[in-house]
Amino acid sequence: MSAQIANSPAEHDSMFESVLARLDVAAKTMNLDENVNKILRNPSRLVKVSLPVMMDNGKVEVFEGYRCIHSTILGPSKGGIRYAMDVNQDEVMALSAWMSFKCAVANLPYGGGKGGIKCDPRKMSVGELERLTRAYTRAMKDVFGVDKDIPAPDMGTSGREMAWILDEFNKIQGESCPGVITGKPIVIGGSLGRDAATGRGVMINTLCALKKLNKDPKKTTASVQGFGNVGSHAARLLAEQGITIVAIGDHTGSFFNEKGIDIKAALEYVKNNNNTLKGFKGAVEITSAELLTAKCDVLVPAALQNVITEEIAAGIQATLIVEGANGPTTPEADPILKEKNILVVPDILANSGGVTVSYFEWVQNKMGYYWSEKEVNEKHDANMEIAFEEVWNNTQAYKSTMRIGAYITALKKIEQGVKLKGNY
Ligand code: NAD
Repeated sequence: MSAQIANSPAEHDSMFESVLARLDVAAKTMNLDENVNKILRNPSRLVKVSLPVMMDNGKVEVFEGYRCIHSTILGPSKGGIRYAMDVNQDEVMALSAWMSFKCAVANLPYGGGKGGIKCDPRKMSVGELERLTRAYTRAMKDVFGVDKDIPAPDMGTSGREMAWILDEFNKIQGESCPGVITGKPIVIGGSLGRDAATGRGVMINTLCALKKLNKDPKKTTASVQGFGNVGSHAARLLAEQGITIVAIGDHTGSFFNEKGIDIKAALEYVKNNNNTLKGFKGAVEITSAELLTAKCDVLVPAALQNVITEEIAAGIQATLIVEGANGPTTPEADPILKEKNILVVPDILANSGGVTVSYFEWVQNKMGYYWSEKEVNEKHDANMEIAFEEVWNNTQAYKSTMRIGAYITALKKIEQGVKLKGNY
């Protein structure tokens, strides 16, 4: 197993370039210090590893693993680990940059990082996944650290993988280091409220935005794409606020019911159906594109990146988009949404609930004292409302979209951090 520093540049038309495209607009709008801009265009560390794993059939497979540290200007790097077939260097670079901006928007003392393994977790046994996760942890032993780089779950990973990472890291260090990873199961140092936190943040952002739009949640409908961690909690929490969820979907199918989908029934169905909505009754089956363009007030993309393309943007009927997923909207779709006067609460604000409660988990691990779920939720909601207001104020002050307002909010703090830390 060898760890090497990968230093090839981002590909053209890449996800990282779409981060830079937004960074450019924000930098120009706020007149960002050009040195700070230069620093942020180049992730500070990028590690690529090859991970040989003995599969159940007795043959070795070699997997590609990555960890990118975009910045540590405001604190140790923080960001999830993704298991998916399309994980690549460009993607982790983009996702890690978004983490830098997201942590700054949410006022967390962190920089940004992201990792991933190119694999299809749905096609692997539990044993294979455990061996792969432990191999990745060993390969990243010099990258991860309680005050250095703190991973968390992302697409395709959950508390189970976090527990394996913690165990392997503890063995390497010869001591217990619960703060090295967040999103852990509760009994081994996880935080109450972490599992639902990203969905909760989506809910709080939706309520804040509806208030600005003078809309009553109880007279509001929503479509949610993705029924995993973010999407399922977001749908449940939005429904609890009286919002009618008219469409839900995952990789196996999308479903629409104009009278409202019974989210409790959908959650129960998924639990007993291999974690998928396939075959769900109580709504008609529609396509993924139909879900995104369905008649509703709020659209919550909470599955994949780049789903709101120019074509989809042109067909969107919602007046509010709250981005649960990372990067669901392409840069080309932004001006179309603006033209249509659709308010977009951007990913770096809308899905920052997860990293916010991850931060609370890390704080509790450091204290060795744990809060009640009520306390965590109250702290989360208060933090999120402040972040929303700061972004809203910058959006108004710079007459920009909320996306650029959020970038400006983050960049102002990072710019200050660079200047305070002094010359290079
Ligand atoms: P997850 O693996 O728990 O769920 C992903 C969901 O997306 C599943 O329901 C899956 O079926 C669905 N999906 C996959 N391909 C699809 C397709 N082609 N069409 C429709 N649905 C599809 O992942 P998650 O943790 O919920 O993450 C979802 C998004 O939210 C990602 O972009 C992730 O980076 C982002 N995010 C997650 C967190 C977190 O705390 N989990 C925090 C911030 C951002």
